[in-house]
Amino acid sequence: MNKKIKLEYEKYILNTYGRQDLFISKAKGCYVFDEYNNKYLDFLSGLSVNSLGHCHPAVVSRIKKEAEILMHTSNLYYTKNPLNLAKKIIANSYKGRVFFCNSGTEANEAAIKILHKYGNKKGIKKPEIISFYNSFHGRTLGSLSATAQTKYQSGFEPLISSFVYANYNDITDCEKKVNENTVGVIIELIQAEGGVIEAEKEFINKVYKICQEKEIILVIDEVQTGIGKTGKKFCYMHYDIEPDIMTLAKALGGGLPIGAAVVKEKYKDVLGPGMHAATFGANSLITGVAETVLEIIFNKKFLNEVNKKSEYLKAELKEIGNTTGLISNIRGKGLLIGFDISINNKQFVVDCLKNGLIINAIGEKIIRLSPPLIITEKELKKGIEIMYKILRVNK
Ligand code: PLP
Repeated sequence: MNKKIKLEYEKYILNTYGRQDLFISKAKGCYVFDEYNNKYLDFLSGLSVNSLGHCHPAVVSRIKKEAEILMHTSNLYYTKNPLNLAKKIIANSYKGRVFFCNSGTEANEAAIKILHKYGNKKGIKKPEIISFYNSFHGRTLGSLSATAQTKYQSGFEPLISSFVYANYNDITDCEKKVNENTVGVIIELIQAEGGVIEAEKEFINKVYKICQEKEIILVIDEVQTGIGKTGKKFCYMHYDIEPDIMTLAKALGGGLPIGAAVVKEKYKDVLGPGMHAATFGANSLITGVAETVLEIIFNKKFLNEVNKKSEYLKAELKEIGNTTGLISNIRGKGLLIGFDISINNKQFVVDCLKNGLIINAIGEKIIRLSPPLIITEKELKKGIEIMYKILRVNK
């Protein structure tokens, strides 16, 4: 990549990210292009955002249309698009109310504030919220406090003191942490940033039961798993549960920034006017685009295809695992897939990139794949061939 750009980034952009050596100048469908017009197959979708691929024609056309009608008004007034989007989310999930914001971490902050308010209204002086080790809920202080991983939290103390951490998939530990001060539980059904670790059905069903019985608010963080990523409209639909609050972001905006907290009817009055806000939340342009995204993804045929592609990808990865002996423990749902790799995972990512494939390393031994939902079997095969080629050399 062009060295001058790297140097200018160092000079002008705050150094908070470890970037790959790739300058992306444009993108279309499942491919991104560098400044020399080399193309790369995108098996990461901008961290699970571009579920409809890059510059999907329906998204582009809706952006153009909305940009000429109305973009931003603030929430001091009524507009059509956020209402239509909220109706669509509710019609496809459960009865409740939607709060719109701009990102995943903000959606979780809204949920955390609801939990605190709920506790305060109940007269609980020090409300406690259970979250889980190895989770990821975002980088703002509330969400970071929920994110029980020292690698993210270390150095940012003092954190918010309401969080109590439990072991994931360990119902005994979770039960032990519940007491009269517990107001909520926040959990991912697949710990995506934590290495694509799936919640066991029995565990989640029991967490749900405890929350129902004790009137503890269950927050399901679907920021990464929502909007068709796991082959269902929302990941909670793989379980026998319904969230009290579901948080969304990433794929919802088709590449534009939006977050949402979907609050069940029962808890709709915990917050009232003036208690929470986001200037850009419910932005007319973005909520319009998100409506188009849901129209495409929340379609039975579309989601069936995602599941077929998921099975194909998993089967092919298993085959590579069998022939090379270098990858194992293939897991995940829909097109959010993880596996363990016994060669250096970061080097594997670099080698894939050099060969035209974008993937992602997590921790020391995990690879995460999150291709766009619109990817074809042919494109999946191409990515698999690139991975296989590199693994064969390392065998
Ligand atoms: N929650 C989950 C499960 C996530 O995966 C992420 C981001 O990766 C977040 C929250 C934070 O989202 P954002 O980066 O949009 O704030």
